[in-house]
Amino acid sequence: MKIKKLRLSGFKSFVEPAELIIEPGLTGVVGPNGCGKSNLLEAIRWAMGETSSKSLRGGGMEDVIFAGTATRAKRDFAEVTILTESPGEQGPEETEVVRRIERGAGSAYRINGRDVRQRDVALMFADAATGAHSPALVSQGRIAAVIAAKPIERRQMLEEAAGIAGLHVRRREAEQKLRGTEANLARLDDLLGDME
Ligand code: ATP
Repeated sequence: MKIKKLRLSGFKSFVEPAELIIEPGLTGVVGPNGCGKSNLLEAIRWAMGETSSKSLRGGGMEDVIFAGTATRAKRDFAEVTILTESPGEQGPEETEVVRRIERGAGSAYRINGRDVRQRDVALMFADAATGAHSPALVSQGRIAAVIAAKPIERRQMLEEAAGIAGLHVRRREAEQKLRGTEANLARLDDLLGDME
């Protein structure tokens, strides 16, 4: 999966709608300290379904919305769009993923214009061996964290890279369903016992 385009509006320092086209090869983003380079990487991670505001350098999820400056009013929403390209059966297939957050209303996600859940977006990227926690996204200080990582953390990184992180999520959900079904069966046994 390749990310072809990133569109931001109201996200952190990107108050005006901005578009970043990622061409094949190497794309560099340059600018003075504090101009928003790291915010771009965080926008990608956020749109991939990141649910930890701490890993986005914020106290709460709404901190990603442009907070205003001395000369500009704050915004009420933030929206990030990622346009991806993946190999399909009939050639490359484009997918547009949008995450939007409104003050007091939380986040909403869309894949190709269809409303979806956070889980659908996170799984889509996890299955493609990328995603908010993927080692493909290396933020500042991450290299040191990789070196200092405990074996279990390193294993998680390898599993993300191998694209099996999504399977773990599905396994956890299947186990929960199984436990629910077992509890229902036990309750049914009790009821049948009472009726006999
Ligand atoms: P450096 O080179 O120092 O790492 P950088 O170019 O990566 O800097 P970022 O850390 O991405 O810059 O951007 C930080 C800027 O984003 C700061 O100026 C900060 O005020 C601004 N910023 C972060 N969150 C918000 C927000 N919610 N509203 C407005 N501005 C924000």
